[in-house]
Amino acid sequence: VSPPTAAQTRQPAGEGSAIDGRAIAAGIRAAVTDDARRLREAGIVPTLVVVLPTDDESAAWYARSLEKAAASVGVECRIHRPASVLAELDALGADPGVHGIICQTPLPPDVDARTAGARIDPAKDVDGANPVSLGRLAAGLPGFAPATAAAVLEILRHEGVRLAGARTVVVGRSTVVGKPAALLLLAADATVTVCHSRTVDLAERCAEADVLVAAIGRPHYLTAAHVRPGAVVIDVGTNPTPDGRLVGDVDPTGTARAARFTPVPGGVGPVTTMLLLRNVLTAATP
Ligand code: NAP
Repeated sequence: VSPPTAAQTRQPAGEGSAIDGRAIAAGIRAAVTDDARRLREAGIVPTLVVVLPTDDESAAWYARSLEKAAASVGVECRIHRPASVLAELDALGADPGVHGIICQTPLPPDVDARTAGARIDPAKDVDGANPVSLGRLAAGLPGFAPATAAAVLEILRHEGVRLAGARTVVVGRSTVVGKPAALLLLAADATVTVCHSRTVDLAERCAEADVLVAAIGRPHYLTAAHVRPGAVVIDVGTNPTPDGRLVGDVDPTGTARAARFTPVPGGVGPVTTMLLLRNVLTAATP
């Protein structure tokens, strides 16, 4: 039997390989667990408070999943359902026993999201919701980046993707994902194009990318036409389907053209959670 030729061992065209976000998260989890133990030994209980302003079910589900993840690494996580969101954010900012604050959406109709974000103490703003945090990121100053945007970079670094000079395209320009991801990529010396709902020739722009970051929030919106063969695709989208599944922004024809891609679920999500908890430890460290 002769050994296989190079052509035979090459992956068939259209066989992109999935990046294991859960495995990357497990690596971070180990370091986070160690750091949490060290802080506790020094008498500090790293504490995160998740503010739940309404009785929205998916917000409550997310809060509970954070609570579980936090418990598994030794971070104290409390869920608060305040009568007044803004007063609660002020009180948590002033409480020395609280190190990290997240305010969940949706907000009550009388509370503006920007106003609420601005009331989170930047020193405790572990999910980068305060405009001050985004400004610090833009200015290259220390501060907290939104955990999802940070997860995009963490995954690319973990996978050894060369970012300096790389053509990267971010689809989406929200302040929680698209914009901060673009700023982080820029800080890593990538050449960054940001696309959005008004972009002309979206498929052409996307197909130029060595690294494509999809953060649109539309199920399977990007297809093979948007993906350059051999690109690395980071799919941030988490879109519920009518049959109760979660799918990304990139459809299977798109991920099949990529060299590597993050699956949904099991890609960006688990890394995001761990980075959020790591931020709580950073905030708790004197
Ligand atoms: P968002 O605030 O709704 O922003 C969506 C962005 O996509 C906007 O900038 C919008 O453009 C752009 N967009 C919408 N339709 C488009 C189209 N047809 N073509 C090009 N661009 C289009 O959403 P988000 O909060 O950034 O979240 C994006 C996705 O990430 C959602 O699926 C969300 O669930 C997911 N997410 C995942 C995590 C995680 O940890 N995995 C965390 C947060 C969010 P305009 O600005 O022009 O409107």
